Amino acid sequence: MATKQDYYEVLGVTRNAAGDEIKSAYRKMAIKYHPDKNPDDPTAEDKFKEAAEAYEVLSNADKRARYDRFGHQGMGGNGGGAPNMEDIFSQFGDIFGGGGGFEGFFGGRQGGRRVRKGSNLRIKLKLDLEEVANGVEKKIKVKRYVACQPCSGTGAKNGTDLKTCATCQGSGQSKRVVNTMLGQMVSSSTCPTCNGEGKTITTTCDVCKGEGRQLHEEVIPINIPAGVANDMQLSMNGKGNYPERGGVPGDLLIQIEEEPHEFLKRDGNNIMFEQYISFVDAALGANLEVPTIEGKVKIKVDPGTQPGKILRLRGKGIKDLNGYGRGDQLLHLNVWTPKSVSGEERELLEKLRDSQNFVPHPGKNEKGFFEKVKEYFQ
Ligand SMILES: [Zn+2]
Ligand SMILES: [Zn+2]
Repeated sequence: MATKQDYYEVLGVTRNAAGDEIKSAYRKMAIKYHPDKNPDDPTAEDKFKEAAEAYEVLSNADKRARYDRFGHQGMGGNGGGAPNMEDIFSQFGDIFGGGGGFEGFFGGRQGGRRVRKGSNLRIKLKLDLEEVANGVEKKIKVKRYVACQPCSGTGAKNGTDLKTCATCQGSGQSKRVVNTMLGQMVSSSTCPTCNGEGKTITTTCDVCKGEGRQLHEEVIPINIPAGVANDMQLSMNGKGNYPERGGVPGDLLIQIEEEPHEFLKRDGNNIMFEQYISFVDAALGANLEVPTIEGKVKIKVDPGTQPGKILRLRGKGIKDLNGYGRGDQLLHLNVWTPKSVSGEERELLEKLRDSQNFVPHPGKNEKGFFEKVKEYFQ
């Protein structure tokens, strides 16, 4: 995945290129690397596909924003990756205007047939704080439609019992001549006989009853990058449902659900923890063990610690999603005041009540709570 080229570089545009610029850059690439125009260059098809993949992401505001933020990881990269050729040609209506221009240019490739895309699958994935902090590989069980194997997803017996649609002669479009005030006009629409597929089934596959797909349960490994947050959505291309009678599968969309930790609270990439200490420990100092996402860690409380002091455990927070290091764990020290005391304890405390050092005498160095917080978030 690390070798994957940046989408902006693929299209040769800057990161803040406008939609038109991206479209025209892709148009140039598609013409230059079109496989039909480069029969002797085996790398042309790869470049062509690369450009199509880059365009698919950068031309969609939603996908582009996700890509800008999470890079290839955010696109669920380890899934299908590059779109297939059918997919790419289905984009051309948009790029070359009405589908006609491109076909004209290259002498017609796909006719008017559309490539069907299967539905997306959505799942929720619960992650605990430790998994969020370090990233994790999860294996999830998914029930989805896959292509029926005996008929290769066509729905026709053995995948071969198909014939060219008699209504549209395989074009998938039915053309109608309409008389208007401006003269005769040809309107075309999806062929009703074959639903735009260009072919009809002569004998139905008896495994899938002509549907071309079957429900199948599979375990899909997903790499969750460190630093994801609640409600974030990751997508794996091509891991959704296969459509009826051929086409390309939809995507698997994974919505992150963060499970709250018992003691530790997340704040961005930092982790907050409220640590109570006795006032004896605050006065005399102490060694304590505190929980972190990596287990217990020993800390030292200095003698004369005031309530509200914040200690920082460097690097004990959450790894940044974009690779900018790791957050910290911040310990907020609270001094515990006994809520009830025994007779003996009362005696000891009464002796200390008027003792010189027990009388508060805050100096200039005692910072208020807000100042301390500010200090850590600057
Ligand atoms: Zn037809
Ligand atoms: Zn079948």
